[in-house]
Order: sequence, then structure tokens, then C-alpha cells
Amino acid sequence: MSVQQTYQQLEAWAKETALLESVAGVLGWDQRVMMPAKAAPHRANQFALLSGLIHQRATDPRVGEWLAELEQSELTQDPESVPAVNIRQWRREYDRMTKLPTELVMEFARTTALAEKAWEEAREKSDYPLFKPHLQKIVQIVREIAERYGYETEPYDALLDQYEQGMTAKQVEALFAPLRQHTPDLVARLQNAPRKPNTDILHRHYPREAQERFCRLVTETIGFDWQGGRLDPTVHPFAIRLVPGDVRITTRYYENFLNPALFGTVHELGHALYEMGLPQEHWGTPMGESTSLGIHESQSRMWENFVGRSRAFWEYFYPIAQQHFTALQEVPLDEFVFAVNAVKPSTIRVEADEVTYNLHIILRFELELALMRGELEVDDLPSAWNERFEKYMGFRPPSDAEGVLQDVHWSGGMIGYFPTYTLGNLYAAQFSESAERELGDLDAMFRKGEFRPLLEWLVQNIHQQGKRYTANQLAERITGKPLSAESLLNYFQRKFPELYGI
Ligand code: ZN
Repeated sequence: MSVQQTYQQLEAWAKETALLESVAGVLGWDQRVMMPAKAAPHRANQFALLSGLIHQRATDPRVGEWLAELEQSELTQDPESVPAVNIRQWRREYDRMTKLPTELVMEFARTTALAEKAWEEAREKSDYPLFKPHLQKIVQIVREIAERYGYETEPYDALLDQYEQGMTAKQVEALFAPLRQHTPDLVARLQNAPRKPNTDILHRHYPREAQERFCRLVTETIGFDWQGGRLDPTVHPFAIRLVPGDVRITTRYYENFLNPALFGTVHELGHALYEMGLPQEHWGTPMGESTSLGIHESQSRMWENFVGRSRAFWEYFYPIAQQHFTALQEVPLDEFVFAVNAVKPSTIRVEADEVTYNLHIILRFELELALMRGELEVDDLPSAWNERFEKYMGFRPPSDAEGVLQDVHWSGGMIGYFPTYTLGNLYAAQFSESAERELGDLDAMFRKGEFRPLLEWLVQNIHQQGKRYTANQLAERITGKPLSAESLLNYFQRKFPELYGI
């Protein structure tokens, strides 16, 4: 068989696996949006069967043989070519999958399924001891997974690499250090400013239907394709591409709080536009997939914050918002823009403002690192959380439900995931600067409701690249410099003191 034929065989194999994964995707969307509660045990069985089939296909010895042949061939000569990128990433996935014995994969799935249930109850009752034994077991399994994957410096690197390929704890520490150093000062300056945002206006009555109509309008104005996607209500919002031509976003509506639906929808829209902008002809292969979670988050954060919370964006949308919401009819534009940009330390990460958000992530990263290094025990996690939280935010969370128990990630075994949120903010800040440099005055476009130039720039520079580059390489190619906290800190300094009149 020729090298070309081997490549085509592996590509067809990978695309069929992707079809199977997309079936699991449909079931996952259904579970979170539509499924009645009583179906849960059977749905778990459906997932278990599918993951078994997918794992079998992914670790099939023939995949290893095909890869060994292809790696010796001329197809890998140009590392940026489509076949070379696919072969490189297929190798990575194959090695990772085969390093974990099936029993460990299944034990991980069972443990996290039980842990997630226990966590829900523990959070509801603010009862950490209910969750603790589950977390102990998860930390133990995750340590074993890290050992099996292997690492150069520390176990955490092997976990982080699952979400942000090539990134290490040491690099993350260096990237986060300036944020940790400068954010508390900025927050204190804003808190002491004479001007205060009136956030009460966001808690007036906002009828659900009006919110939905407005969110749909914003979404399609920016560039969401209704022929290739949906927007539905759910408890925990997310975005997912099932297959090319089917990208679904979800949001939640509170009639007494405008922000969650509005900014949540624009956030998920950012993820969706990335999925819509990927090279669809490569679907089912690494070239058709997003670069990393950090880059994915850069897209959601860019649209949610850098665009969606800018004054220029609201100069265009605010008159339309006032037609949708009687609650805003007497509220001047500037008062609204100030309110949606209020900076205030708070307990819950997902409700945090742009500035304090990163402190929530730094806190989690530091605790995870200590857990994986064996410097912190699961027993002592709540007190470690509260101490560190007070150091960063100036007060202690009133309960574990608003502290250590608030996020789902650890119950799902996703240790090493949190840093990608702040990495997303850092990437977004650098990408925004480059887009502005290349496209000119973006605010002037937003004021006229023109979002296509920015979207097309993102599609061309980021989305269409698939997994051709690592996140770091991509950032350097686009922005001309390695990732750092500088652009994000400069953006904060430009934006917030002015809003607060200092
Ligand atoms: Zn996101």
C-alpha cells in the first residue's frame, strides 16, 4: 500500500471515530437541555458504551502501525502541512490513550460520575465532608494519570497539557505573577473612586421573552448563522459543535438580572463562532479542531468583554435594548455602560467582573498545584481556600458553597483546566491589539453595528488554522510577541480608571 493510501485509511478511520463522538455529543446536548430526569441511568449506560467503542477505536493497534509508517514518509516533511499536522496530533492522542489502561479510564469515569452527584448535594447543603472522600479518590486517580502520561518537571504539567498543549505550570506561574501583583491595587483604587456604578438598574424586571428576542438579535448581528445553529435555555450554559452545520449555544434567563443571559449568550456565541469558522472540510481530523482551550476561551472572552462590554458596542445596541426593555428607558447610556463594567470582589467566579475574575483563577491554580505537589491535603482544602481568598479579595466567603464547593470541575476530575480561563483573557487582550493594528479603529465599526471585519480577521488568523500551531506559536505569529500579561493589564488601565473617573 502506498503512503497516500495509508494516510487516507487513517483519515477515514479518524473521521468515523469523530462521527461516533458526535453521536455522544448529541446525547450530551440532549441530557443538558431536554432530557427528563428519569432517563439518567440509561443515558449513563449509553455514554459508557459509546466511550468504550471510541476508546477501542482510538487505541486500535492498526492506528499505531499506520502512524509508524506515515511518520517515516515525506508527508511529514513540511511540519505545517495538513497531513503533517494531522499525523503529529494523531500520534499525540494515540500515545496518550494507550498510556492509560482501560480499567483506569473506566474507574475514572465511574468515580467522577459518583463524585458529580455527591458534589451537587454537598454544594446544595454547603457540606464539604460529603464531597471530601470523592475528591480524595479523584486526586489519587488524577495523580496516577499524570504519572502514566509522564512529565519533565512536575505532575501538574501532564494535566495542564491535556487542555493547553505544551504549557507548563512554571510558564503559567510566570504569566499570572503580574496579574496577582497588580490586580489588588487596581481593585482598591476603583473601590475608593468617588464615582460608583449603579448596578441596581441591572436587577430591575427584564421579561424573559424580551431577553430572548434581544439576545437573538445581538447574536445574529454579530454573525451567528441560524441555518447552522440553535440557541436554547439551560441551567449551565455551554456551546457545542455536533457536526459541521450544527453549532448549538445555550443560555439562562433571570427576570431580575439582565447580565447572565446577555453576556452569557455573547460569551457562548464567541465559542460558537470559532466552531463555525474552523475549516469544516477537515472535520474529524486535528486540522479541523480548535487549537486549545485557552484559544477557545480567548474567542468567547473577546466577544463578551472586549467587544460586548465596550462603550462603542452599546452606542449601537443600547437604543435597541431600550426598545426591548422598559426598565432601561430612563437610564442614560453611560450609566448602563458603567453598571455592566462594575468591578467588585465577589465570591462566585462565574459572576465575577473582568478584573477580579483572574484572581479567582489564580487562587484555584495555586491550590491545584499544591494538591498535586503533595503540599496540601484534601482535608485542609476549605481552610486553604478561605485564607487565600481573603488575601486576594479582602474578605472570607460566608460558606463553602460560595467557596471551595462552587465549581463543578474538580468533581469531574478536571484538575489543570482552570488556568485556561485566564490564558484566554491574556490571548484575547493580545489578539485585540493586533486586530486593531491591522483593521484600524474597531470602535468606529462597532458604533455602526459592523462586526464582520473583526469576525473575518479572527476566522482567517485563528479559526482557519485548526491545530496547525500550538497556542503559543499561534499567539506569536499573530501578535509578534510571546504571550504575557502586559496587554491585559494595559487594557485594564485604559478602561477602568476612566469609567470610575480617576
Ligand atoms: Zn467559555
